[in-house]
Amino acid sequence: MNNRVKAWLEDGTIDVFLGYKEVDHHPLPYCFTRERLEEVDDLVLSTARYSLEKIATHMAAVEPDVKIGMLARDCNQRALNVLYIWNQLNPDNVSTVSVNCCPSRLKEHADCSYLETENVGPYKKQVGVDNNLTPEDVEMYGKEEGFDRWMYEFQKCIKCYGCRNICPVCFCKECSLEHGDLVRTGTLLPDIPVFHLVRAVHMAGRCIDCGLCEDACPMDIPLRLLYQKVNKIVMDLFDYKTGTSAEQSPFSILGDTVTLEPKPIQPAQPGD
Ligand code: SF4
Ligand code: SF4
Ligand code: SF4
Repeated sequence: MNNRVKAWLEDGTIDVFLGYKEVDHHPLPYCFTRERLEEVDDLVLSTARYSLEKIATHMAAVEPDVKIGMLARDCNQRALNVLYIWNQLNPDNVSTVSVNCCPSRLKEHADCSYLETENVGPYKKQVGVDNNLTPEDVEMYGKEEGFDRWMYEFQKCIKCYGCRNICPVCFCKECSLEHGDLVRTGTLLPDIPVFHLVRAVHMAGRCIDCGLCEDACPMDIPLRLLYQKVNKIVMDLFDYKTGTSAEQSPFSILGDTVTLEPKPIQPAQPGD
């Protein structure tokens, strides 16, 4: 793998390679370049999961012609497919080194060996939504109880935006979750269930079920399950398999040329 990446950088197939490097025994996302070719020896496969394609999207927004290489597990590949469809990345400018981490290669929404089952406490089992359930399992609650259980989960939200920020397919220049008409800014807790339902609607036909949002959520809200539920509706209605279909999402109407422009990288401001 390392030799292939070096060769790609040397012969101009790619300008940069996004992978992982161990820093103080922690595998961190890292951008390998032609100028520091020797660093490619430090490229590791690791068990880390990160939305490298999100970094790629930011790079392409600033340098549209940059040729990007990256490690790609199944979930990365599904996200890339969505980003190609939504014109956030040009497939001609992306080369991947496949990492076959999951036996269910590119199966739609298959359980992923990297997503561990949660140990859910008795109180959550009693009043909330067990992260390990399937969309079908949740239907057994019925409308009223199901609503109450989801509201229990949503009211834990601290509006940290971690779910949106880590998500490889959240790329809007202006995010509805920061739009004052939908979600009040400057207040905690967020307006529920609006905050979560807005995001859920936007993930319909877009979420590739990587589970990174749920990993990032400090409040253990079963976000992956929520988005599986909306994607199941898309699947049932339109037979559209997010991340594996080469066609535009049936909900592409949600985006227009303004809201779906790549978000330019903004330097961090004090207090951000
Ligand atoms: S599982 Fe979460 S982070 Fe991954 S694509 Fe879906 S919404 Fe985004
Ligand atoms: S508007 Fe929706 S899809 Fe776009 S970044 Fe915000 S939450 Fe994600
Ligand atoms: S990561 Fe969890 S706590 Fe943070 S905004 Fe998203 S749902 Fe809320």
